[in-house]
Amino acid sequence: MQDKGFLMIPGPTPVPESVLLSMARHPIGHRTKDFSAVMEDVTEKLRWLHQTKGDVLTLATSGTGAMEASIVSALSPGDKVLVLVNGKFGDRWAKMAKAFQCEVTVLSEEWGKAIDPEQVKAALATPGTYKAVIITHSETSTAVINNLEPIAGYIQSHGALSIVDAVTSLGATQVPMDGWGLDFVATGSQKGYMMPPGLGFVGVSAKGWEAVEKSTMPRFFFDLLKYRKSLKEASTPFTPAINLIYALQIALGMMQQEGLENIFARHHRHKGAVRAGASALGLANYVAEDKAAAPAVTAILPPEGVSADKLRGIIKKRYDIALAGGQDQLKDKIFRVGHLGFVCDRDVLTVLAAIEGALRELGHDVAPGAGVAAALKLLD
Ligand SMILES: *Cc1c(COP(=O)(O)O)cnc(C)c1O
Repeated sequence: MQDKGFLMIPGPTPVPESVLLSMARHPIGHRTKDFSAVMEDVTEKLRWLHQTKGDVLTLATSGTGAMEASIVSALSPGDKVLVLVNGKFGDRWAKMAKAFQCEVTVLSEEWGKAIDPEQVKAALATPGTYKAVIITHSETSTAVINNLEPIAGYIQSHGALSIVDAVTSLGATQVPMDGWGLDFVATGSQKGYMMPPGLGFVGVSAKGWEAVEKSTMPRFFFDLLKYRKSLKEASTPFTPAINLIYALQIALGMMQQEGLENIFARHHRHKGAVRAGASALGLANYVAEDKAAAPAVTAILPPEGVSADKLRGIIKKRYDIALAGGQDQLKDKIFRVGHLGFVCDRDVLTVLAAIEGALRELGHDVAPGAGVAAALKLLD
């Protein structure tokens, strides 16, 4: 059957019909009152989502672009930065900071484990060593969430800036910018925003802006000072992705209706249900510790001797459900179920039933309904 696509990957994530339809309109000029009214509204809603009184800037880019905008705006060539790495995205930020000639020190943790905040504290023992600490809050590649709150505290005591990849944590769990004193928070529309790809967002604190004003990094399109200046007139320095901003307005409105606490609780329930469902099917969760498991995505090991990609292939072919594979050293070793953004209980139950069906097709004798039954106990 065609046209019944079902995305259960950690980005792009499913998009509500009302959000899709909001884009089916003529673009308007971005130097008009009409556009400024939309921009003012979405900017206010973005402040709500980021739990900040500061600025949140909207860029026509992906999550990586939002991170690049943060790095080139906050830092200067030769700056010492500490990058926390426990997966592929952490790796990416270390490479990026190097590309911009920062002096990079990596604090790494084994894939599948969370960064130990005490190790960060130790690395930051001498105040003033680092200009910034770059951290991936939810490491999508391994389905691990790092314990950002205490880490943010240590970064502040050190006197450094925090540059946070919150791409799969914002809109799934707490990332209170002001509450935790985060300086740069980068995200992308195709993750927790219930939107198609194409917009990147950067939240900037007052301390962050002081650094931007002093930074000597060469930059142009991603110069956040330009975006701040335009935002004063409720516009953008370059042509924005106007139709995506229509979508953003609707999606953020839906999120406000649901409420932050309810959104976080939903992601937490879904994480628990997928993990319990996998265990009941005799599958191990790659992230052993519940506490370290990301609310947006769950990584599951296939049965001994079974290729994760083969299992995913069957699920795609038989049930038309897209799951994500493993990356780098985890390629074909794990599969990942996204439960980020516009995901409801039905989706979670369906994906568990499909995993069960695929396992049976592969000759694994799982008790019919075992995964769904375990998940239902947590969804009641
Ligand atoms: C998806 C993702 C990104 C951004 O990727 P883009 O493809 O540039 O949008 C960054 N960090 C994490 C943790 C992600 O999951």
